[in-house]
Amino acid sequence: MPSILIVGGGPAGLSAAIYAARAGIQTTVLYKDGGALDKTDKIENYFGFADVISGPELLARGRAQAARLGAQLTQAEVTGVEYAEKGFSVKTTAGSYAADAVILATGAPRATPRIAGVRELEGRGVSYCAICDAFFYRGKAVAVLGEGEYALEEARTLLPVVGSVTLLTDGAPAPDGLPEGLRVDERPVTAIEGEDKVARVAFQSGDPLAVDGVFIAYGTAGSSDFARKLGAQLDGNKIQVGEGGATAVPGLFAAGDCTGGLLQVAKAVSDGAQAAMSAIKFARQA
Ligand SMILES: Cc1cc2nc3c(=O)[nH]c(=O)nc-3n(C[C@H](O)[C@H](O)[C@H](O)COP(=O)(O)OP(=O)(O)OC[C@H]3O[C@@H](n4cnc5c(N)ncnc54)[C@H](O)[C@@H]3O)c2cc1C
Repeated sequence: MPSILIVGGGPAGLSAAIYAARAGIQTTVLYKDGGALDKTDKIENYFGFADVISGPELLARGRAQAARLGAQLTQAEVTGVEYAEKGFSVKTTAGSYAADAVILATGAPRATPRIAGVRELEGRGVSYCAICDAFFYRGKAVAVLGEGEYALEEARTLLPVVGSVTLLTDGAPAPDGLPEGLRVDERPVTAIEGEDKVARVAFQSGDPLAVDGVFIAYGTAGSSDFARKLGAQLDGNKIQVGEGGATAVPGLFAAGDCTGGLLQVAKAVSDGAQAAMSAIKFARQA
């Protein structure tokens, strides 16, 4: 049976799931939490609700509708989306999933961390993609800035290729399950420094750490991180999509806030439906 995997269980992802499941496609939704809707007290501008509805209530109804129609909803954090021999392989905190087509719907893009030097040294030692750039740091010392599953996944990608990897948790406690060989520095980071390229990381106290590269992997990976790694086009942190939510990568679609534009439920739901129609067509031909 053709399969579609949806990353994100907000209005965009759930709307996509409703269309895909009703088309007889094997549909899986992977979601970490309630996304933006869970933080929304009152919604009174979404079609069909004469009275105000709360974000969590609208979300619960959407989840129940997608599940009733046959979509499989699984709570797990996605840490990577990769090409597989056939279609895609999606890595999560609850194992790996395979799919013919993927719809990215993880909500509003993440902000770039406000650490001095990050913006200035982007592309000159500051990277957002271990799988894309690890090769450039063969035998060199690099750091990964982050403290969650996503940072650990980036570290795992780098460890076999580079000289050394230090996880910079920026004041947070080190996570469990550190891969072998990963160094950890928990001090708060104040700046990434260097003249033409990254040379060191400065901390609130103590000596700086000499590194050739810093990989940014704060918090949870979002759609733009996955899209960038697969070679899709981005406009800043927003995924550029064409008609029907298609990215530049065959079989990869995006919907909702992660594509920019009107950051509203109505647009997310419409995007999800359109991305699903395109993904259904793609998955049936795969
Ligand atoms: C305070 C507030 C008030 C708002 N008020 C309104 C309003 O009145 N009307 C209106 O129309 N809109 C409102 N919005 C906007 C609306 O909530 C969003 O436009 C809409 O939720 C976007 O839907 P989405 O599916 O793109 O993203 P989201 O709803 O943010 O869903 C993102 C999903 O992706 C998941 N996710 C993210 N990363 C990962 C990962 N790595 N692995 C697995 N899952 C992941 C999240 O857990 C979540 O399930 C409001 C937003 C906020 C924050």
